[in-house]
Amino acid sequence: MAIRIAVIGVGKIARDQHLPAIAANPAYELVATVSRHDPELSVPWFADLDDLLASGITVDAVALCTPPQVRYGLAVKALQHKLHVFLEKPPGATLAEVESLRAMADEAGVTLFASWHSRYAAGVEPARAWLAGRSIRDVRIIWREDVRVWHPGQAWIWQAGGLGVFDPGINALSIATHILPRPFFLTEATLEMPSNCQAPIAADLSFTDSAGTPIHMDLDFRQTGPQSWDIIIQTDDGELKLAKGGSVLTLPEGVREDEDREYPELYARFAALVAGGQSDVDIAPLRHVADAFLRGHMRAVEPFIE
Ligand code: NAP
Repeated sequence: MAIRIAVIGVGKIARDQHLPAIAANPAYELVATVSRHDPELSVPWFADLDDLLASGITVDAVALCTPPQVRYGLAVKALQHKLHVFLEKPPGATLAEVESLRAMADEAGVTLFASWHSRYAAGVEPARAWLAGRSIRDVRIIWREDVRVWHPGQAWIWQAGGLGVFDPGINALSIATHILPRPFFLTEATLEMPSNCQAPIAADLSFTDSAGTPIHMDLDFRQTGPQSWDIIIQTDDGELKLAKGGSVLTLPEGVREDEDREYPELYARFAALVAGGQSDVDIAPLRHVADAFLRGHMRAVEPFIE
């Protein structure tokens, strides 16, 4: 039987990716949406999750596509009703709230999936396979995008818990934590905070691992002109480059670019987890962001006016 799913928080990512991925996968039936504004879709809409839960509509799972700051309360309600929960990235506004959700899901016997869509970008798995067993000399992550183009009107991103430039930057961390062979950790960071915001507009971060590998990350939300979502890794066997957020992989032997299947793959994974009675909750990318806030120098910069 199909998983009867409700999408909560119908904004950009829900419309661009979740709804099409659900519609294309016979393992799911979209039964409702929950959002403060009516998304005007063909399924019943509720302004509040309580109203959906009281409606008599049978729901097996919810996909939480709201900003991270309001995700915990919604996830708790869903888990209390023994619904499976798909969390958009980042899985929460704090590490501890995600751990709390994981414990609740285990106790309720339902699936909690902390999704990291960039890990499903076409080049990521082949990059991981190519790196395995190779000697890595240096890693550079350059994630520079124009916030006015990609996040128009998203006030939540600048509020506490919205992550600022780490909202896209955590995607790079989700890839790096997946493809690099050893755990790595932050050694130094500078976060540039607009004086009218609670989250950084740029960040410069240095990490290393137990082998002393230098890993540098350059994040900037003020990029105009060409945008970059690149990871460049030097090895003893030459350079690996993942570009366009992980979808284009360049190796010494050539370039490969495959079709983008990030959200179809995420929904296939969620269905498999539900069928297998399992959860998948990796907080490693969020932990690096938390460490940056814990260990980084804060530098005040000019206010951000959209
Ligand atoms: P968005 O366009 O702002 O959509 C979020 C939706 O959540 C809003 O439209 C809003 O719909 C609902 N919402 C509920 N409570 C809210 C609150 N307190 N403040 C603001 N909105 C609230 O954001 P998005 O770009 O879809 O991002 C949502 C999540 O997906 C973020 O965690 C983001 O990192 C992740 N994500 C985004 C992208 C992307 O390309 N945009 C890609 C991958 C992942 P109502 O007003 O109807 O309630």
